[in-house]
Amino acid sequence: MSVEEVVVIGAGIVGACVARELSKYENLNIKLIEKEIDVSCGTTKANTGIIHAGYDDDPMQYPVRAALCSKGNALWHNMVEELGLHVNWCGSIVGATNEDEITVLETLLKRGITNNVPNLKLLIGEEARRLEPKLKNLKAALYAPTEGTILPFEAAIAIVENAKSNGVLPVLETEVVNIEQKNGGGFLIKTSLGDFKADWVINAAGLYGDEVSKMAGILRTNNGVSIEIHPRRGEYWIFPSEYGSPVRHIVFPTPTGATKGILLTPDPEGSLLAGPNSEELSSIDKEDKATTRIGLNEVYKYITEKWGPILPPKNKCIKNFAGLRAEPQHGDFIVEGYERCTGFINAIGIRSPGLTSAPMIAKEVLNLMAKQGFRGKVKEKWNPHREPIPRTLFLPYEQRGRLVSADSRYAHLVCWCEGVSEGEIVEAIKRGARTIQGIGFRTRAGLGRCQGMSCQSKIVEILSRELGIPPEKVLLKSKGSEVLTCGIKDLVGVFNEPN
Ligand SMILES: Cc1cc2nc3c(=O)[nH]c(=O)nc-3n(C[C@H](O)[C@H](O)[C@H](O)COP(=O)(O)OP(=O)(O)OC[C@H]3O[C@@H](n4cnc5c(N)ncnc54)[C@H](O)[C@@H]3O)c2cc1C
Repeated sequence: MSVEEVVVIGAGIVGACVARELSKYENLNIKLIEKEIDVSCGTTKANTGIIHAGYDDDPMQYPVRAALCSKGNALWHNMVEELGLHVNWCGSIVGATNEDEITVLETLLKRGITNNVPNLKLLIGEEARRLEPKLKNLKAALYAPTEGTILPFEAAIAIVENAKSNGVLPVLETEVVNIEQKNGGGFLIKTSLGDFKADWVINAAGLYGDEVSKMAGILRTNNGVSIEIHPRRGEYWIFPSEYGSPVRHIVFPTPTGATKGILLTPDPEGSLLAGPNSEELSSIDKEDKATTRIGLNEVYKYITEKWGPILPPKNKCIKNFAGLRAEPQHGDFIVEGYERCTGFINAIGIRSPGLTSAPMIAKEVLNLMAKQGFRGKVKEKWNPHREPIPRTLFLPYEQRGRLVSADSRYAHLVCWCEGVSEGEIVEAIKRGARTIQGIGFRTRAGLGRCQGMSCQSKIVEILSRELGIPPEKVLLKSKGSEVLTCGIKDLVGVFNEPN
């Protein structure tokens, strides 16, 4: 059996899941090409992190989303265990505050049953209020116990680590700039790092999926919809765990329009996310992740008016951020292959619930390849597991002792807010972290209450030492994001210069 070359474009959650799924086959040689310096630098790093139950997507209007979401939820329940991810299976409620909204909950319940969502319950009056006693005016709730939250960047990083251990080659800092179809089959992928041959190309380029699709000459879906993706921005507040979450579940309002509304989400670390709102941007604004006073006020005001004054004061917020949904023209995921371009598969337009659906999107990509003639030979020794970086402070006493005696850097605390040691940071660098953000995503250093105020300089020092680069070259997150302009001594030298 000959080995076929696969290029997956984009190392967000979709590309990561596709690469991991395909790594189960010994007759595939897989490269995961990503233009940024790290995995999970696109939409995957900035979203709510909910593993949705799957009652929200109308199968008549959004058949692909409806088909993939609840199955994706079931796969995540296994994957978080296999990959050692942090998770909060807290369940969710959609809250209704009047009779009209209760009617919408009934529709969602029916839809959930159609979409095979398990254990959904419509709770009326006291039963609903017992779940969330602090919400003002709660008259009923649709309860989905299978829903939960993960840290999406941690998930994508872990999946790529696992795919790598199963033979996938991540190729970072490499932008795909063109795709040529070769006579007689196959593709030549032109990138900023040179050319790659491929028998299969999987386009998982997120917000830029339409541009990559155009490179392959695919401008319309198989149903004739123009493939155009525009960003829809969502803004958030994060409040740290020390204020305690006012809610125990993910709390959705009853939906009224295009989005799931503005939510309250307890994340796996005990922090509370409030958001996102929803703002359409033009297709030229695919990098506009700025937060705005108007957007953030909209989120805070919405929650307060809807559920009462349950949010901590604004000045207790540790971070605001914004994410960009990759919105396709018709609102549904585009997961399809093309007779007119055999071997090219789009997995794009993956707006919400794309994080939830990603493991199923990967399985669907494999089905599409099979329809085009791929016959996979399953590896005898495929490893589904990945060891998380140990979080020293939270280990049982004896385990911590063993770790510290093997490497004393595990006893040296660098980030006091999140309790992260130098040993963990060095391990993150060994596993691929190249930036301050990459360290935070792998260890949580700098993501806590002080947001790196006290540990960032130490992290710069460690990155500089381990990567063998001067501190001025250490990046916050991407090219051009150096945090220092020069060494302190140089600065002092400048001040000491005679006039
Ligand atoms: C505000 C918000 C809230 C959300 N909440 C949820 C939620 O709670 N639950 C849920 O299930 N979903 C949620 N989503 C949706 C979810 O975040 C996305 O569906 C998912 O992250 C999309 O992943 P992706 O891999 O398709 O895209 P991305 O993460 O954007 O990955 C695409 C990658 O492709 C790379 N790339 C692009 N062009 C090129 C090129 N030419 N060459 C090489 N690489 C390239 C990019 O750099 C990027 O890393 C939310 C989205 C937003 C914005």
